[in-house]
Amino acid sequence: MENESIQNQLGLVAHNFEPELTVQELEDRNRAALASSEAVVQTLEEWCECGNCQEMPSLEENVCCKGSDLVIPNLEDHNCIALQHSYDTLILNPDVLALAYIQMMMHKGQQGRAPEELSNRQSRLVAYRQFICWMPKGEKLGKGRRVVIPSCVVKDIRHSFPENNNDYTGFQAAIDVRELFC
Ligand SMILES: [Zn+2]
Ligand SMILES: [Zn+2]
Repeated sequence: MENESIQNQLGLVAHNFEPELTVQELEDRNRAALASSEAVVQTLEEWCECGNCQEMPSLEENVCCKGSDLVIPNLEDHNCIALQHSYDTLILNPDVLALAYIQMMMHKGQQGRAPEELSNRQSRLVAYRQFICWMPKGEKLGKGRRVVIPSCVVKDIRHSFPENNNDYTGFQAAIDVRELFC
């Protein structure tokens, strides 16, 4: 009985102090830390298979068209979604985007008249929306689902409709679907 009470006391003591790590545990922790730091400095070649992506500011945005579940069914035999025959027309043509902007206004019940010419910011917004409508072919994405537009597509849209001084902070590639459709 006396032994048992000593055990209990030791048990209590053990729980009151953080147990020291064994060498094995330390090594495991170091390996895990190294793996996560490697993920942070993931190079473009490691995540882009299409050859058209560019480095993005956050890990979440490092998505290639060939690694996107949303895009893969639409790739057909192309090496990048940008080579799909409708891509330039649907995503980058200013007349198509101008009409899509009017449809977006009507969908949102906005009053008034669309601008004669969209600003580059408006063009980018509509182009992202076009892409997100086009890829799932009308299948519901689910409310609140965040969609990451592949880097190669973001690059094209920004190249066609650039922002002064390259400031794209107001609109990231990882978008809450509700921002575009509500
Ligand atoms: Zn890519
Ligand atoms: Zn691509």
